[in-house]
Amino acid sequence: MDRRIREQLEAEYRQQREKNAEEEARRREEVRLHAPQVAALMEARQQMIADFCRKALMVEGYQVPEAELRKANEQIRAALKAAGYPEDYLEPVARCPICGDTGYTGGDERRECDCYRRRALELSATVGEAGQSFEAFDENVFPEIVPEGWPITQREGMRRLRKRCEEYADTYPSVSPRDMLLYGKSGLGKTYLLNCMARRLSERGFSAELVSAYDVIRIMRDAYFGREDDTARLYEADVLLIDDLGMEPMMENVTIEQLFQLVNTRRSRGLAMVFSTNLNTEELKTRYNERLASRLTDRSLCQVIRLLGQDVRQTQRP
Ligand SMILES: [Zn+2]
Repeated sequence: MDRRIREQLEAEYRQQREKNAEEEARRREEVRLHAPQVAALMEARQQMIADFCRKALMVEGYQVPEAELRKANEQIRAALKAAGYPEDYLEPVARCPICGDTGYTGGDERRECDCYRRRALELSATVGEAGQSFEAFDENVFPEIVPEGWPITQREGMRRLRKRCEEYADTYPSVSPRDMLLYGKSGLGKTYLLNCMARRLSERGFSAELVSAYDVIRIMRDAYFGREDDTARLYEADVLLIDDLGMEPMMENVTIEQLFQLVNTRRSRGLAMVFSTNLNTEELKTRYNERLASRLTDRSLCQVIRLLGQDVRQTQRP
């Protein structure tokens, strides 16, 4: 990973953790003011823990009574709920529940979290040396092999697809159908094309928002929980380009509904969307549902384009 990207990532994650800590403090204060019964339970738990610690130092072989601690935690959750708060309102705040916004998982064997690697990819699109643009697009990175069941080579396929995407970006809003869905395995150049389109559209004076599906759900969730409302980006941009559909966290009754609402609202306003996904049309149906999948792949509303071939990130590796 590029050093500049690494540094920016580390700074972003550090800032996020600071924001989380502020939010945690703000919530404790809010609960203290508005739900004194919860605050009293919190206080009691604090003393209980202090007491355990003292005993652990003084009594040999002392076992922390975990059942008592669990009970105290349950009481706090119940009291929060009774006071109209989410049960987990006082638990650690984190944008990514997997790494807790450290960027890493796995304790001793430290590994980069998925959220970290995704963000690194996003940054590499903008921080990358020449940036990703149609001008910089080099079809020669795609091999001259003919994917099974295809009449042309992968390289020729990309040449045509690049032309089609460039035409889209050059002629928007006179494009029909209005939306576009690129699907195929990872490493075939989808993200690169989305970057090129977003850049060209911006250069032409349109607002083009390129967001990962992961961030779409995060933005919506933040707005839902009243943290910060950044959803205007998603609802109002002339063209919304959603990268890596299918990589967002799947929360029951939430993810599908929110995506469905976003797609419908934008369509009813006549605003365009471009999607990339590693899922094929069958997998889209399985992951989401018939209703959303058929919206995404409706060929009267969306140019559905399949990419085939070899992962170029692998062939480029030494
Ligand atoms: Zn993470």
